[in-house]
Amino acid sequence: MRALILADIHSNLEALNAVLDDAVTHGGFDQIWCLGDTVGYGPDPSACLELVQHYPLLAVAGNHDYAAVGKMSTDDFNYAAKAAALWTTSQLSEVDAGFLGELPLTAIAEPFTLVHGSLRDPLEEYLLDQQAAQATLDLLSSRFCLVGHSHYPFLCLENEGSPQFVQFTEDAVYSLGEERWIINPGCVGQPRDRDPRSSYAIYDSQQMTVQRHRVSYDIPQTQEKMRQAGLPQYLIERLNHGI
Ligand code: ZN
Repeated sequence: MRALILADIHSNLEALNAVLDDAVTHGGFDQIWCLGDTVGYGPDPSACLELVQHYPLLAVAGNHDYAAVGKMSTDDFNYAAKAAALWTTSQLSEVDAGFLGELPLTAIAEPFTLVHGSLRDPLEEYLLDQQAAQATLDLLSSRFCLVGHSHYPFLCLENEGSPQFVQFTEDAVYSLGEERWIINPGCVGQPRDRDPRSSYAIYDSQQMTVQRHRVSYDIPQTQEKMRQAGLPQYLIERLNHGI
């Protein structure tokens, strides 16, 4: 079984389509594991929700998913995120809203646990330092944990009891062993590691490997749709820079 691991699609249909096509050239996939924030920021919330549901799908909630259906307050969102959340809400069908509202905070596909932020704060914590990683490892009941939310790809290995962040190098093959890992595949729809290309990972259960890939997409097309939707200029501009 091969799982396509996607985080933070953020209503970016061009990015999602590019990733789905690119994944086929890298051996294909049998199902999608979606780590939350399928909507928010971008111009195609409904189309992205429909597209991921074309495949066998295991998905968890992100803060933007719940905010779009009023299950989470946007008080902590900055002005651009709040404006995008309001716009997203106005675009969702009843079916879309029902799907987002029913997403669980965590899901298990052995040997992985899927969560958007972290296990101690599934919707809002950015897991980016050793202390946050340790807190998640303390709560982890499976061997591996998949996270999104920071839009920043990494591997975090439990090394002699303490978590260690290492580069999740593009196209390298990583063998999964006995030690526990936290893995962020990077972001599909709004990368923030200064590389504007979409990032995603593929898990192969026969080989017991994980690989991360990157693919360019038609950024100007997404930006034009965002302009027509009246989404904030800052959100449009940042896609050029991967920030
Ligand atoms: Zn996000």
